Amino acid sequence: MVDYLSNALWTEDEVKFRKELQAFCNKEIAPTADEIDKGPFPRELLRKIGKAGYMGVHHDKSVGGTERGLSYEIIVAEEISAINGGLDMARMSSTTLYGMPLAKFGTDEQKKKYLTPVVSGDTIGCIGITEPDVGSDTAGMKTQAVKDGDDWILNGEKRFITNGSTADYMCAFAITDPSVKSKVGMSAFIVDTKSDGFSVVQDHDLMGMKSARVSWLKLDNVRVPSDMVLGDIGQGFRILMDELDSERTAIAGEAIGYARTPYEIAVKYSTERHQFGRPIKAFEGVSFKIADMAMKLEAGRALTLTAARMYDKGQKITKEAAIAKLYTTEVALEITNDALQILGGAGYTTDYPVERFVRDARLMTIGGGTVEILRFLIQREVFKEFFPR
Ligand SMILES: Cc1cc2nc3c(=O)[nH]c(=O)nc-3n(C[C@H](O)[C@H](O)[C@H](O)COP(=O)(O)OP(=O)(O)OC[C@H]3O[C@@H](n4cnc5c(N)ncnc54)[C@H](O)[C@@H]3O)c2cc1C
Repeated sequence: MVDYLSNALWTEDEVKFRKELQAFCNKEIAPTADEIDKGPFPRELLRKIGKAGYMGVHHDKSVGGTERGLSYEIIVAEEISAINGGLDMARMSSTTLYGMPLAKFGTDEQKKKYLTPVVSGDTIGCIGITEPDVGSDTAGMKTQAVKDGDDWILNGEKRFITNGSTADYMCAFAITDPSVKSKVGMSAFIVDTKSDGFSVVQDHDLMGMKSARVSWLKLDNVRVPSDMVLGDIGQGFRILMDELDSERTAIAGEAIGYARTPYEIAVKYSTERHQFGRPIKAFEGVSFKIADMAMKLEAGRALTLTAARMYDKGQKITKEAAIAKLYTTEVALEITNDALQILGGAGYTTDYPVERFVRDARLMTIGGGTVEILRFLIQREVFKEFFPR
């Protein structure tokens, strides 16, 4: 197959990096991609990914990263998701969703203790935003943290937390001043999941992403020392918003991965499967689907890289990250669905992994900001551009 991924969008180093990563994924992940989907993936696999350097491409060298930036993280997200979506969801939750708030707002001491072992894959992180009564409206958060001497006592519940029951640390958001708006009354904490009062209510039984663990957690008088406060007290909402920009760009990279493998399988299948005396690719009902799939993948990759490049230059990417995530996650549903259609009955069986990618892709118009919320954010940014205050 022609290497259609190495086009002008990418630097020579990014192309080389992708090829090395593909070789690693083919050796270490692909052979057990279906097996690990019975879940949970073996912890050792995350350690291997960390040791190979693929947890830390966007982290500083001081914490064991390679300081290459988000444009490399989206390559990692795409390549691992192209093999197993749940595994990358777990990897990314640890190193990006948990890791980026620490990288940007943590003290040197906090980074050394709580980020370095995540970058090496030795420990696992998670991010705790969502609650039973709080999803899209993060400002309505109910989990509270109350000062007790030098410590903070956290009470509340966090739901749908990727890595929740397997993580060593959680970056948890809680209200520290209920008398003011959450924008200034929310704070972020690094919580040791071995703390007294931290418990797992249940692991959710998911439609897809079967190799990951996604959990409902309870914090019952969990004591957090003040040196585990992330950033300043009252800075939580800012940390959360900042995190979401890198998260959404990285998720867009994943969405390209979920869509790419079914697309490649469908292209090959359309040349092998014959009906009415011809390969089915001879029928426009099939080949035009393939044209649309290729177009959506290229467009999605360009949008995602735009957001990542801007982030790496230190620019604000709220609109670009939302556009990339919205577009790629919606087209991932269309591409995976069309791929299954091209395979006909075979696509509906587990003989091909396409059905797994359909189930995995279904999550991403929901997690990390639903498409409805992203449309709201994009139009808000557009009006700000036209009518600045
Ligand atoms: C597998 C999985 C993994 C996850 N991992 C994590 C994690 O690691 N950490 C974490 O904190 N969270 C995680 N989440 C939570 C995820 O981010 C939320 O599910 C998501 O933000 C939506 O919240 P919700 O499910 O409560 O839906 P709700 O906010 O209740 O929304 C329900 C519906 O109403 C719509 N809606 C809500 N408000 C508006 C509005 N203003 N305008 C238009 N439509 C609106 C939504 O778009 C949606 O269609 C995960 C979720 C899943 C399913």
